[in-house]
Amino acid sequence: LITAIKVKNLSFYYGKTKVLEAISMDIYQNQITAIIGPSGCGKSTFIKALNRMNELEEEIKVEGRVEFFSQNIYSRRVNLNRLRRQIGMVLPRPNLFPMSIYDNVAYGVKIIGWRPKQELDEIVESAIKAAGLWDEVKDKLHKSAFGLSSGQQQRLCIARALAVKPKVLLMDEPCSGLDPIATIKIEELIRNLRGELTIAIVTRNTQQAARVSDFTAFFGTDENRIGRLIEFGATAQ
Ligand code: ADP
Ligand code: ADP
Repeated sequence: LITAIKVKNLSFYYGKTKVLEAISMDIYQNQITAIIGPSGCGKSTFIKALNRMNELEEEIKVEGRVEFFSQNIYSRRVNLNRLRRQIGMVLPRPNLFPMSIYDNVAYGVKIIGWRPKQELDEIVESAIKAAGLWDEVKDKLHKSAFGLSSGQQQRLCIARALAVKPKVLLMDEPCSGLDPIATIKIEELIRNLRGELTIAIVTRNTQQAARVSDFTAFFGTDENRIGRLIEFGATAQ
């Protein structure tokens, strides 16, 4: 196994409040790692610490290290835009842009650099296919993304994240608020990426973790209500 992200003794604070204590674990390349645990134990904080999304919201402090293929992501030399392109993220609720289905998926690809239209079309199509959404949207690519159901919108967010070909995809409770059928579709698309993409997924659903993941990290809180890693290992199938 190759380590994509190495977390070493990570403690995390919002302001002066410590919410994670001394977390050490690896996110392995081309494996799916589920992060599970009760509400409030710091799962979402942890996954956002892996591509530095927390600091958009709040003043934070980090102790320890997070290394992405051996590079310390909290180094001052890190290019955050480049980092977040390489470590993509899907949030609990769809957060599409007020644009067409096509333009949502093409958006990040266009930022990276100009490509011929045919090449862009191919990237958009293969990302939407990987998200298991192609048959549902191929006839309305230039219609507003807001016309889609919430499950479809969430899969489109996944397509948008995949389109820039990230090395790692972080998913923070991607099925929260979705009905069982929409949830199954997202689990299917995650399983289809198994072995091909490094994925870390936060979920409160232990059965979902068992269904989709290769490794499971159990988080919990200590007597001071600070989040800790309780156990890490291969997922029991
Ligand atoms: P989980 O994802 O496991 O439910 P979170 O990472 O959302 O846990 O939250 C962990 C702890 O950090 C909670 O006590 C929560 O109240 C606190 N917290 C989360 N986000 C912030 C924030 N932006 N500012 C301050 N405290 C926060
Ligand atoms: P619209 O939102 O009306 O599609 P855009 O400015 O997003 O307008 O782009 C129009 C078309 O031009 C796109 O559908 C795309 O095919 C092409 N295009 C725009 N920017 C790029 C780019 N960076 N690389 C490749 N094609 C592009």
